[in-house]
Amino acid sequence: MATARPAVEVAGLHKSYGGLDVLKGVDLSVAAGEVVCVIGPSGSGKSTLLRCVNLLEEPTSGVVLVDGVRLNHPDTDLDAARRRMGMVFQMFNLFPHLTVLGNVTIAQRRVLKRDRAEAERVGRDCLARVGVEDKADAYPAQLSGGQQQRVAIARALAMNPSVMLFDEPTSALDPELVGEVLTVIRDLGTDGMTMLVVTHEMAFARDVADRVVFMDAGVIVEEGLPSQVIDDPRHERTRTFLHRVL
Ligand code: ADP
Ligand code: MG
Repeated sequence: MATARPAVEVAGLHKSYGGLDVLKGVDLSVAAGEVVCVIGPSGSGKSTLLRCVNLLEEPTSGVVLVDGVRLNHPDTDLDAARRRMGMVFQMFNLFPHLTVLGNVTIAQRRVLKRDRAEAERVGRDCLARVGVEDKADAYPAQLSGGQQQRVAIARALAMNPSVMLFDEPTSALDPELVGEVLTVIRDLGTDGMTMLVVTHEMAFARDVADRVVFMDAGVIVEEGLPSQVIDDPRHERTRTFLHRVL
């Protein structure tokens, strides 16, 4: 489980867009092997936090370290830093003109320079891990939303990330397809993957998270064990939010 150096460390993170302060000083660390779920109302800054961690946004101020490497620093090799992180969004964003196997091999080949045989071996392994190995030759449009999202997870895993970031990975899915995706994410956590998961699925957070973080209005209001934050929140804002979603 947890080792000494955090896999992800965020300190004093601020992010503003024009005059709008979206993140107002976020401190968060995720230990290697830890699963942290981030919950909170829409607009509270959860996606912005993930986007600052995975370098889609530059922090206005503060520090973000992944595997001890400071991301927002001029000397950092951003491409190398990005490779440490696998990102899964609400929308799967698979390439529609590529097969499933093509989707899980293209970045391995272009970014990691793996040859075709190696990329396909790794790709098939990752597809098997998420239970869609039989769909390798299908096109995304031929898959259900749940299968597409599992392919998106396999695509991220194929890059051997040290951290997986998920931003509401089941929010775009029909309700009957949510479970299969959550099961895959849960299994990754059981296998020791370090994960930061933004989710509205409280039952999932309660079961899978080592720690739950509640965000509201650009700050972390409280964090702790799922049983504490979800079942016995200390703050009124957390209680109000949970009352609405549970
Ligand atoms: P959440 O994921 O918790 O719903 P977000 O991080 O997406 O919240 O957004 C937090 C706030 O930041 C919202 O008020 C949103 O409108 C604003 N915001 C997010 N991205 C941008 C952007 N690129 N430009 C301006 N405002 C943004
Ligand atoms: Mg969001």
